[in-house]
Amino acid sequence: MPELPEVETSRRGILPYLKGQTIKQIIVRQPKLRWPVDDAIKNAQGQVILDIQRRAKYLLLQLSYNWIVIHLGMSGSLRILKNHQEAEKHDHIDLVLKNGVILRYTDPRRFGSWLWANSLDDVFQLQHLGPEPLSDEFSANYLFEKAKNRKIPIKSWIMDNHIVVGVGNIYASESLFMAKINPNRKVNSIQLVEFERLVKAIKQVLTKSIAQGGTTLKDFLQSDGKPGYFAQELQVYGRDGEKCHICNAEIKSQKIGQRNTFYCEQCQK
Ligand SMILES: [Zn+2]
Repeated sequence: MPELPEVETSRRGILPYLKGQTIKQIIVRQPKLRWPVDDAIKNAQGQVILDIQRRAKYLLLQLSYNWIVIHLGMSGSLRILKNHQEAEKHDHIDLVLKNGVILRYTDPRRFGSWLWANSLDDVFQLQHLGPEPLSDEFSANYLFEKAKNRKIPIKSWIMDNHIVVGVGNIYASESLFMAKINPNRKVNSIQLVEFERLVKAIKQVLTKSIAQGGTTLKDFLQSDGKPGYFAQELQVYGRDGEKCHICNAEIKSQKIGQRNTFYCEQCQK
């Protein structure tokens, strides 16, 4: 599933091709995505793409008068075509620019979305989201205040979009390992100094992933359409039964809140 670093990589990959360009046509071959694509999206025609921003895992295309809000869902991807290519089965939407460049959206499982809005305030999916993990607002003090009286496992809590956006399952396991915090710990048992380690770890893990993604931006121009997703060097995720790189103990796996969780009992207290 595309996580925050992949979405940010997508944003940086497509931005130079789209910013300042005029939309000639939008072709919707399959409107049945997670939410149906609004017919009004055809009004994008003739508008200029002023900018592309990101909030959580949503890409926000700011047009002259409207917004297109894209989520990649489970299996969505975007790529740039420099000229026309026959659409294949899962190529659901094309944004055709006046200069001939095409932004093509492919999504085999159709859990993604293309929302049309007059204003971002109208997009309910964007309301009530927690801070961006790489912003200054996301701090140890912020988490410490929020954590009071919360008794759920820290792993589930940091994956909650109301607390902070964009900490997916892999990044949650990896960050807790880096911060030496057991994923089962109850939120209200965590000390400020531990939150300081955790915030630092989350920022580091995400920043590193975005930087790695940046090296694969050229893939946005490959015709096979696999954009620049990247394999992280993972310390614990998917390594159950293998040895911890720090202490040699066996990495454990466990379901927490129905999500696979990986950790080292020796290193994480
Ligand atoms: Zn260990």
